Parts: sequence; C-alpha cells; structure tokens
Amino acid sequence: MLKVLVNGADGRMGSQVVKAVHEDTELEIVGGVSITHIGEDIGELAGVGKLGMVVREGLGVALDELKPDVVVDFTIPAAVFENAKVCIEHHVNIVIGTTGLTAAQRDELGVLAVKNGTSVFIAPNFSIGAVLMMKVAAEIAPYLPDAEIIELHHNNKLDAPSGTAIMTANTIQQAIAAAETEKSPDRTRESLEGARGAKVDGIPIHSVRLPGYVAHQEVLFGGYGEYLTIRHDSVDRKSFMPGVILSVKKVSSRPGLTFGLEYYL
Ligand code: NAP
Repeated sequence: MLKVLVNGADGRMGSQVVKAVHEDTELEIVGGVSITHIGEDIGELAGVGKLGMVVREGLGVALDELKPDVVVDFTIPAAVFENAKVCIEHHVNIVIGTTGLTAAQRDELGVLAVKNGTSVFIAPNFSIGAVLMMKVAAEIAPYLPDAEIIELHHNNKLDAPSGTAIMTANTIQQAIAAAETEKSPDRTRESLEGARGAKVDGIPIHSVRLPGYVAHQEVLFGGYGEYLTIRHDSVDRKSFMPGVILSVKKVSSRPGLTFGLEYYL
C-alpha cells in the first residue's frame, strides 16, 4: 500500500483527491495539510465520512510524523514551489497539480530531485481528454499552422492563462517548427491592449473566467476557406482523478522531474 498525503486537502481538488485515494484499494490516505480547517476531519471535508485524520498545519512536520510515500499538491501558485522543495528535502515523491510553476522553477526542482534521489511529477492537466486534445492539436498543427486558444475556467482560478493552454501552445509551436511549416503573418494592430490575447510561442491565448465553468479549452485552427476547432470540457473535478491516481502509482518509476501526463499513458 502506497501511503499518500494530500496538501491542500480541504480545497476543491484536494478533497476530491482524499476521496479518490481513500476509495483505491492499492493506496492508503495518511493525512492532509492546509492553512485553514485545521483540526477538521479530512474525510468529512471530502464527503466520505470520518476518517479519523484531521487537517494539519505545516507540511514539513506532517512529513516527519506521517512518513508518506507520495504527496499530492493541489494548493496555490504562490505556495507550490516551496511545497515541492520541502518534499524533495524530506526525500518524499510529489505529484503536483497546482498550476503556476515557471519553467525556471521546474528546472530548479528537477535538479534538486535528482540530487536528492526523489521523483517530482507535474501535470498541467490530469484529465485524459485534455492530454488527447494536446496530442491531436500537435497532429493538426503542421497542416493548419494558424492557431489560437480559448480557455474557459471558473472565476476562482488564480492564474491566467491556464497551464494547459500554455502547454498546448508550446506543443503546437514545436510541431510547427518540426514540420518547418510557415504561419500566416498577423497584421492586426491592437487599438486596445490585450484585444488579441496573450501570446505564448506566438500563439494567442484568450482566458475567460466566469462562474459556472469548470475547465474548458478550444483550439481553433484556420485555413483557406475552412477552419477546424477541437474542444475539451471537464464538467466535473472527478474527471482529473484517474490521472491523479495513475500518477501517484507511477511517480517513483521516473526519477527526477517529469512534466505531462502523457509520460504515464
Ligand atoms: P482551492 O479550492 O482554492 O484549493 C487550494 C487549497 O490549498 C485551499 O484549501 C487552500 O486553503 C490550500 N492552501 C493554500 N495555501 C496553502 C499552503 N501554503 N499549504 C497548504 N495548503 C494551502 O483550489 P483548487 O480549485 O482545488 O485548485 C488548486 C490548484 O490546482 C490550482 O492551482 C488549480 O489551477 C490547479 N488545478 C489543476 C488541475 C490539473 O489537472 N492539473 C485541475 C484543476 C485545478 P484556503 O482555501 O483555506 O486558503
């Protein structure tokens, strides 16, 4: 049985992870950490009834006392880098769902993980459908290289653009470069800053934040007299759980840092 600790256990994603780990026969939930709801039962917060484990404060102390094999982090962009460093220093593998880590921070974590003999796994998106959307986008891009991304999320999401949108743009650009395809020139001049979105690898990303949405993304490809749109919708946070559980079980198989669920599929 792999022992799992959830950081951000009282959050929207963290509480789903507590439930998913509790229901998996090969995993054992050993505790949860957060900054509020301290002392409350993590099972009750996750809607699975009392588990006899309360939300704790302080990741380092929890790692010393509970000795998990894997930490799953769904916290906030401002905290995730430090959380990952604490896990690596404690020689505990970590699965990160929290978005907002920069490429430089990922590189630093990768170096630390190798030095400490631990595994760090980061997925901008744990949903199988979203990973397939990126794979399909990379296949389309060499033939229709003019692309834009619209990502739509709930209005409590702290970062914009989403990690998935950034990763999709990177993937599309790599596919275009590998195929040596030419994009059409964009001659638009913005009369209002931001009107053409934020560009990642030259690909405009438009971020929508509205109540009611969960996590959605459209990738639009334009051609001569035709266009092709692919769209993915996560309508429930449980769509992320098969990917999270898979990652918890596989994280130790790849030492150092791994970025993207496709490495485990
Ligand atoms: P959320 O509901 O706000 O949950 C975050 C939780 O972390 C909250 O309970 C928060 O406590 C707690 N927290 C804040 N700082 C902390 C710290 N330093 N140590 C421990 N816990 C801390 O947010 P969410 O919707 O679950 O999303 C969490 C993250 O996952 C976001 O970055 C989101 O973009 C990302 N996400 C990723 C995926 C994916 O597939 N990779 C999918 C969905 C979401 P308080 O609320 O009490 O402050």
